Amino acid sequence: MGFLKWVREELGFNKNTKYQRTYLNETNIKTAIYMSFIVLILELWMIIRYVRKRPGLAFWEYFDGETNYLIFFSAAVVLFLFSFRYTKHIKKRVPGIILSGAVLLLDFIMTGRFLYKNAGSMGTAEILFGLKYYIILAALSIMYLAYEIKISKQGKRNDFYGQLLNILFAVICLGFGIETSLYDVSKSRQILCFVTMIIFVACMLIWKPFVSVAILGVSFIYFYRLWYPTLYELDVATNGRVLEGDQINYFVFWIVMAMLSISIYQQRRHEAEKDENLIAVNKKLERAAVEDDLTGIHNIFYFNQEAEKMLKSPDVDISKKLFLFLNVENFKTYNDQFGYQAGNEYLTALALLICDAFPGDLVARQSDDHFAVFTDDDKVMEKTELVRKKVKSNESEVYLELKVGAFRPKGRDTDPRVAIDCARYACSLIKNKFGKNYMEYNDDVDSEFHKRQYIVNHIDSAVQNGYIKVYYQPVVWADSEELCGYEALARWIDPTYGFLSPGEFIPVLEEYRQIHKLDACIFEQVCRNMREGIDLGFSVLPVSLNFSRLDFELMDAVGLLEDLIEKYDIPKDMLHVEITESALTENMGVLEEAMKRIKEDGFAMWLDDFGAGYSSFNVLKDFEFDVLKIDMTFLKGFEKNEKSPIILNAIIQLADSIGMRSLTEGVETDEAADFLRKAGCGRLQGYLFGKPMPIEDVRKRIQNGTYTVSDKHI
Ligand code: C2E
Ligand code: MG
Ligand code: MG
Repeated sequence: MGFLKWVREELGFNKNTKYQRTYLNETNIKTAIYMSFIVLILELWMIIRYVRKRPGLAFWEYFDGETNYLIFFSAAVVLFLFSFRYTKHIKKRVPGIILSGAVLLLDFIMTGRFLYKNAGSMGTAEILFGLKYYIILAALSIMYLAYEIKISKQGKRNDFYGQLLNILFAVICLGFGIETSLYDVSKSRQILCFVTMIIFVACMLIWKPFVSVAILGVSFIYFYRLWYPTLYELDVATNGRVLEGDQINYFVFWIVMAMLSISIYQQRRHEAEKDENLIAVNKKLERAAVEDDLTGIHNIFYFNQEAEKMLKSPDVDISKKLFLFLNVENFKTYNDQFGYQAGNEYLTALALLICDAFPGDLVARQSDDHFAVFTDDDKVMEKTELVRKKVKSNESEVYLELKVGAFRPKGRDTDPRVAIDCARYACSLIKNKFGKNYMEYNDDVDSEFHKRQYIVNHIDSAVQNGYIKVYYQPVVWADSEELCGYEALARWIDPTYGFLSPGEFIPVLEEYRQIHKLDACIFEQVCRNMREGIDLGFSVLPVSLNFSRLDFELMDAVGLLEDLIEKYDIPKDMLHVEITESALTENMGVLEEAMKRIKEDGFAMWLDDFGAGYSSFNVLKDFEFDVLKIDMTFLKGFEKNEKSPIILNAIIQLADSIGMRSLTEGVETDEAADFLRKAGCGRLQGYLFGKPMPIEDVRKRIQNGTYTVSDKHI
């Protein structure tokens, strides 16, 4: 079974792919260019020789003798032109039409002359046999004419015509080879013409070996039968020395030719197969380069590239164009609740939904649950609303919301990456804002946006040039109002933007994961100031440092503290670590490890902003904090809201009963201070006792008696 299959495959009975068929056909036709060109030159030479040998004949009389040369020459011209046009993808049809018409006309003239000369002396069968090459040539030129008129007009290429023209040409070759060689043999010459033509045909007809083998086989047998009488005669004359040797050689030659055509075919098929695989791989790579692998829609690289092209195209009216950034709010919860797989499915469905809502527009997934669209501003609200409704109507109980930021390109040289960044920024401004789902980037947003870009791009130079300054805000004992410590707060005093407050730069630096650079700079300044203070003989007090959750991911924050303590030779109890309550989410990661190390190292740990976020008392249970810093929001409207004092009282007592010391921040009035003092809150911090200020101001105030430094530290 395996053997039969192998034979079938070797002979080309198996079905090739379309690519393989086209490949084989094209290489065949390429070969035909060379073959027909050789014939063309050869026959031209033969014609010239023929005419020169017979000078002085009337024009018609030249057609009476050997017309084979002319037929063969004409066939070669037709095949050459066809093959050349076909492989070189030439569009011009006129030369082909004129030429095939001319060949056809010549064929008619030759046929006419043949009939005129022989009609009287020959029977119908004889005439038809005599006309066989004229008929084939007519078929060849008509086929080519039809190809030029029908097929090439439609700009299509057609394998069928190529194969048929090749076969017709092969038949002429073989016929010519057989006839000439029979003539040669009768004159005791070699069968070289037959051999040459067989090789010609074997090279030209390589698209199915069984076809080549069959055509060659028929030709060999046919020729052998006609050759046999001569061979036999020779054999008799030489006492049996011819037939045996020539027969063997002859059939070996046939087998070799058959093998040759099989081998060339297999070789080409193999090349085609490789080519096809390569093309498939390339296509895959090309697709991967433009496709988002999760959702199957375009990826952001493709989006940027195409948007750039569209912006540059004069046919696109950019005044009507908008870049959109779409963000699904709360998608993380969806993922957490239903798993990654469900999340992916949701995103895929959403991607298709967005594509449907913006038909014909550029749509891509940027990352996570973020999508980018490049569209016309016409009906954009309706379209986004359509998507939003679908987002909200998801069947799960997770509350999802779609927020859209938009950006109008300012000119043709707008960079789509920047445009999407701007739209994204506009979108971020309506984050968690109920009822506001669409925000366009405008001038106000623009200046804000540039400030952010500035911050991210200049943090390194700000650190290097000393634009980052540490300010100290006093912390006092509630009872004596004597200074017991400070909180270190960062300020950015910039030559371009002037005074920047942490509210402006901290969230940006956190978003772009640059916050550790600022914090490292602040920590070092605090230690340096303290060393200076000690050396100058000031009474120094503990300073609490604000740590961002990201500090523990982006640098070895605890290691840095340890190094600084050593470098500046500072007692450990002089530095306190503030960790904001919102950092202590479920996903603790490296933070938990770091907190353990802080405790082990002997630094005091403060829980900052208690009550500002979604407080969980578990935080108090699970972690070892020394000081509870009660957020200033409790003091907002303290006098008017009767619940505030009750809650504050409870928190202070709670802290006390679990062995934590308490500090309330944001104390601005004497009433608040009085209340907190009575409630048992030990430490106070707020504008009432002093705003954050440079170290020089702190020292001045101590010197001029505004502040009294307590002997007792926090
Ligand atoms: P925080 O740690 O809760 O700091 C207290 C903030 O409240 C400071 O704002 C301070 O100026 C302000 N404040 C103090 N007393 C009063 C008051 O009586 N009334 C009012 N209205 N505000 C008062 P600031 O300096 O703008 O800092 C804001 C936040 O930025 C800080 O909140 C802290 O979370 C963060 N931050 C400041 N400096 C740094 C730093 O060096 N590194 C890190 N990672 N975060 C910092
Ligand atoms: Mg703080
Ligand atoms: Mg705070």
